[in-house]
Amino acid sequence: MIEYIAEKIKKADLVLIGLGEEIDMLTDLKNNSSYQETVRELEKSWILPFICKMKIEEESAQKAEFYQLLTAGLQKKNYFIVSLCMDGMIYRSGLDQGRIVAPCGGYEKLQCSEGCSADLYDIPEKIMEQVKLFANGDKTEQELKNLLCPKCGKPLVFNNVDALHYVEEGYLNQWNIYKKWLQGTVNKEVCILEIGVGMKYPTVIRWPFEKIAFYNKKAELFRVHSRLYQISEEIKGRGHGICEKPEDFIKELSKVL
Ligand SMILES: [Zn+2]
Repeated sequence: MIEYIAEKIKKADLVLIGLGEEIDMLTDLKNNSSYQETVRELEKSWILPFICKMKIEEESAQKAEFYQLLTAGLQKKNYFIVSLCMDGMIYRSGLDQGRIVAPCGGYEKLQCSEGCSADLYDIPEKIMEQVKLFANGDKTEQELKNLLCPKCGKPLVFNNVDALHYVEEGYLNQWNIYKKWLQGTVNKEVCILEIGVGMKYPTVIRWPFEKIAFYNKKAELFRVHSRLYQISEEIKGRGHGICEKPEDFIKELSKVL
């Protein structure tokens, strides 16, 4: 199967990639018992998401290989990537940043918690230093200052789906570019690779990807997941479920690509 997929990628006019929860560092983090302890301690505190960002950055080397291999495999291809990952690792990879859309947002930008405007803000380096001091026990929560919206004075939060008033402008521009790219897939040979995408947001990747494979007779879908690799009956023949861990899959693929 792996050689068959490699051939499909090589031959395809276009490659559509979906990345999901299974490769998101946040999934690992949420299953980590010491982090769960931190979550219990800081449950209602504004600091918790900043601790989360700090942890992701500390462990970022873990995902570097996955993205390196993916980047190498997609070189010279006309590709687009839809990612549900919120860890931001994709932005540290060599992938073409103009060919990525991440509708869930992440920990790269801040927004007003009330969504009073569509403005996004950079994360001041100072705050991350403070959060590190707090995590090491060198500062108390009271000594840390929450970041406030310059427009309305309410707290700033990370620009992602966890925000109560998620500012979707953070990804909509890329989403429109993606939609245009999709229009160009009609009647083309499209290799669709869905990696580690679970059932959390099926309307973003899983269902639309199945639909493309259903309507475009030249498309072929490969769904890689350690548990949720099943393919619906309608696209059997042009859809393949592969029961494998994303990291193992990408290593195997890179050997034959
Ligand atoms: Zn505001």
